This record gives sequence, C-alpha cells and structure tokens, in this order.
Amino acid sequence: MSGIEENNKTINIRTLGCKLNFAESATIEQHLAAQGFAIVQGDKYADVYIINTCAVTETAEKKCRQLINHLHLLNPAAKIVLVGCYSALEQSQKLASEVDLILGSHNKMQILNCMQTLFDSPAVPLSDTDSDTFFSSYSLHERTRSFLKIQDGCDYHCSYCTVCIARGKSRSDSIDNVINNAKTIVAAGIKEIVLSGVNIGDFKADRKPAFLELLQHLVTVEGLERIRISSIEPNLLSNEIIRFAAEHRQILPHFHIPLQSGNNRILGLMRRRYQRELFADKTLYIKQLMPHACIAADVIVGFPTETDDDFDDTYRFIAETPINMLHVFPYSRRPHTIANQMEGQIEASVKNARTKRLIALSDTKKQQFYAQHQGLCFPVLIEHKKENNSLFGFTDNYIKVRVDADSHLEGQIINAQLIDTTPDGIYNIKIV
Ligand code: SF4
Repeated sequence: MSGIEENNKTINIRTLGCKLNFAESATIEQHLAAQGFAIVQGDKYADVYIINTCAVTETAEKKCRQLINHLHLLNPAAKIVLVGCYSALEQSQKLASEVDLILGSHNKMQILNCMQTLFDSPAVPLSDTDSDTFFSSYSLHERTRSFLKIQDGCDYHCSYCTVCIARGKSRSDSIDNVINNAKTIVAAGIKEIVLSGVNIGDFKADRKPAFLELLQHLVTVEGLERIRISSIEPNLLSNEIIRFAAEHRQILPHFHIPLQSGNNRILGLMRRRYQRELFADKTLYIKQLMPHACIAADVIVGFPTETDDDFDDTYRFIAETPINMLHVFPYSRRPHTIANQMEGQIEASVKNARTKRLIALSDTKKQQFYAQHQGLCFPVLIEHKKENNSLFGFTDNYIKVRVDADSHLEGQIINAQLIDTTPDGIYNIKIV
C-alpha cells in the first residue's frame, strides 16, 4: 500500500467545459477510487483538487482562475492539479506558481500515476506533446445518461478555435471498444448515451469515415434505449446518417449542428468547411424525414470584420431556417489562433447587442417549437435529480418536462402527453 493510501487522502475533481471533459473526469475518478483514494463531490474540503479545465473562451479561462483562488481559500494546504485544454495552452510561470501540477490534454491520464510524486515533490514538468493516444472514457454519475467518448482532437483548424490546438489531431476509439463501453453503461442501468468527442462526425475505423457504421453497431446493443448524437459538423452529417436516424427509434431526433455564421463571407474567414446553403439543406432534410426533430445550432457573433449587414444576413438566415434553438457566443479572441491576428476586431458593445438579438430570436423559436407539440405524446426519460418536489425529464426531441417527485419515476422511460407549460417554459405532462 502506498503512503497516500495509508493517509487516506481525499480527492475532489472539478470539471469545466464540454461533455468530453465530463466523461474524462468520470474516468479519472473511477481509476483513482480504484487506487483507494476517497473521492468527495461538490464544494467539499479535500486534500487534492483536480481541475479539468476548458479554454474555449476567455470566460472559461477566467472561471478556472477564479476556481483556483476559491480552492486555495477552501483548503490552503490542498494540492491543486490542472489538467485539460487551458493548462495545455497556458504554460505561464504565474499559473505554475499557483498550482502544484500542470498536465495538458494528451498527458491528462498521467494524473493516475502522479499522486505520490505530488506529495513528495511539488514541481513536475509539463510534457504534453501531440500524440495518437486515445483514452476511452464514459460517465456514470448521472444514472440517467452517460457521456460516452468516441473521438478526440480535430484536424479542421477553424480560424477562431483553440480546442483543435489543445486537443491535437483527430483520433477515434475502436468500434469494438465503444460497443463494450456501451454494454457496460447499459449494465449500470443507464438508458441513454450521448456520443461525445471534439468532432464526432470525423469518427474513423481503419482510417476511413465510420460514424454511420458505429451507429449501425450501437443500435444492436440490447437495452440501449437512447442514443443522442450531440454536436456534429454539418458537412459530416450525411443524408445517409439522417436517414438512418429516421429509421431507428434509438437514435433520438435531436441534432446539434454548429452553424457559427449565416453569412458565407464570414464562414470563409472562419475556415468552416461548408456554406450556409449546405446547412439549410441538412436542416430541411431532417425536418422532411423527422418533422418533430429538434435542431439546435451554435452561432458566434462579432467575428472580426462582421458588419451590421453580415449580422443581419445571419439573423435572417436563422429566422428562415428550421432551427429550433441557438447557443449564442460572442466571439472571444483566443491566443494561438488566426482570427486573433485579424484586422477588424469588433467592439464588445456591438458583440453584446448582437448576442442579445440572437438570444431573443432563439427564445421565440424555442417557444414556437414547444407550442407546436402541445397535446402530443412523446417518450420521456425521467432524471434522478429532484428539485422543489419535482423531477424533470426530456422527450426524445429534447423538450423539457416535469412530474411530481413522489411519482417515483426516476430513470424510467414513460409515454407522456404534453399538457401545458410552467412559467419557466417546462411542460407539465399526463402519463398515457
Ligand atoms: S470543427 Fe472547428 S471549431 Fe470544432 S473543434 Fe474542430 S477546429 Fe474547433
């Protein structure tokens, strides 16, 4: 038994950012627990804090720095470890002086071998070179759904993006391993998996595109009731994938497709691999085959040189396209990116005004989408988390519903009629 195990050190993992980080944190946690460490959840006192960081925006980095300060106050004697995208990109002396160990994205899993070193000697050098290493991960915490990592990294190099720099080149798990992980998740009683990665549509087997093939295998996993595709690049969402989703009830009619801009000049500057016409075609095809499908899109506003007319172009495009909700991000200058060097950076006040307009458009579209479904019946997976005597769940097409907590429906899929919405815009349901 190691010294740390004898001391029974407690470890608290904090996760910032994307689904992929959540899946990886869960795996780190499972391994450290198996090594005999006591894992504590929430804002608890611990001997070691591991922060799984994010660098997608300046705000994400700020959150990380605030969390470091907070944890120092919570336990001044604690060891603090940073892993992930922010620490992969930010190797400043300042950061190194505030924490005890910095690991990046590729060497993230070295944390499993580092705990003893951490207590013996505080300074550990960072070595995070890009590699083909793929470490498989999935989350089991939520008990309702699991984030299953199938792919990592990205070869696209969009001009604003640091994730492709921090996470390195695109690589995929093997189909066999994904299927085995899916079976383990089902055996744990979880009914829904969310396929997670940096660019999941780029999933490959034997160096050939294989996302559709992966779906074909996944739908055969017994007991796997729901497969959510999560975010997929429009140019990789083939019509075959859309048709396959329409033909298989396990693949949920919910698509998250990054648009980023509805103006082709801006899309070109962003180095995206499609024009808006392709995006429109994909959404129309989805709605043709799955009229109730929910389509969500990411949009970045205030990209360098975006004029009022360019923004209006985006606004009109979104208004006219069957997108049901938006995730709107004001453009954030990121070090190491091409867009950071571009002329024509947009003032914060302009970015904020454009963000507000798109959020208002998103609210209208979401309300319209919800209203179209009133009185109709859908399968709903009820979650385990209780709040104010309510349980919540989502329909297959991602409409949020509530039931009374004393219904004891946690983790079950029920057939529900959508009755009316609460002031928060959540549907009350009748079980049918
Ligand atoms: S597709 Fe573009 S935005 Fe998405 S991770 Fe890759 S480089 Fe970044």
